Amino acid sequence: MFDPTPAVLRAVDGVSLTLDRGRTLGLVGESGCGKSTPARMVVGLLPPSAGQVLLDGRLFAGADAAAHGNAGEGGATAAAIGSATSAAVDPAISRAEAAQLVQMVFQDPFSSLNPRRTVGASIGEALAVAGVSGAERRAKVADMLQLVGLRPEHADRYPHEFSGGQRQRVAVARALITHPALVVCDEPVSSLDASVQAQVLNLLRELQEHMGLAYLFISHDLGVVGHMSDHVAVMYLGKVVEEAPRDVLFAAPAHPYTRALLASVPVRDPSRRAEHPALPGDLPSPIAPPPGCPFHPRCPQVMDVCRRQVPGWYQVAEGQHARCHLHAPELLSRAAG
Ligand code: SF4
Ligand code: MG
Repeated sequence: MFDPTPAVLRAVDGVSLTLDRGRTLGLVGESGCGKSTPARMVVGLLPPSAGQVLLDGRLFAGADAAAHGNAGEGGATAAAIGSATSAAVDPAISRAEAAQLVQMVFQDPFSSLNPRRTVGASIGEALAVAGVSGAERRAKVADMLQLVGLRPEHADRYPHEFSGGQRQRVAVARALITHPALVVCDEPVSSLDASVQAQVLNLLRELQEHMGLAYLFISHDLGVVGHMSDHVAVMYLGKVVEEAPRDVLFAAPAHPYTRALLASVPVRDPSRRAEHPALPGDLPSPIAPPPGCPFHPRCPQVMDVCRRQVPGWYQVAEGQHARCHLHAPELLSRAAG
């Protein structure tokens, strides 16, 4: 099992994001911004295009372990889960071990559950692969069904016999049966009705507390991410453009894109809505992103430099960083002087 030290998720362009045990890192952005890519790498569904995935400092996926500490600007992608890794990378973690430690809950439980298998068989599959006996498996599946708010006898039913919310509970049970350290939740409530969303989110929080889980929680909905996360990373066109503790991000967003996303979160106080105008325009193609800052065609605060020069990754406050020229030290000192 994992030791209880803080974890680091180094995702996308060398940006390191801390993911502590028992806590949630939220990843937010518009659909198509590439949020799922680091998540899928983490669970090993996609080979990392450059860089690699590390689990407690050990190579989990990808080649070229020596380069892992140096995922450069502009494309290298690596993800690390586990204590910060400056030391040499240990031998690769086996597929089986990785599957036990990192699990995933997908958006659509209908497509992620085999319709021809009982949910008990689906939930117990990882245990069967690990060689756990039939009787022990059934007992563990029954326990897990109760933990997610279903009944042991539900094990004999098929996915179509459940509501959307119940199916997502089944998917959660299947993810947790191996007692993972990290669960990647990729839009886990996006296909559910609002009332059911709240139930599933509350369940995820209860289970996190009960099992000490770390979540990488991905959603296009900043309201949902804010509800679930301790720390939030905002992505635009495949890059993290801001990361900050949840409360800091909501109180003092640093990147104009984050401010625009906040504008789409329902707020009770109408005077605050005016602070964050809605975002004009569509998401450009990630294959041919605009030059300079990829957000510049939609940015209300665009400057000349934004059209020519890719912004750096600047510290804005304690634990808060943004990829935006507005926070470049040169510009800030010029503005001050
Ligand atoms: Fe806007 Fe310029 Fe910042 Fe990009 S770098 S978000 S265009 S101000
Ligand atoms: Mg996605």
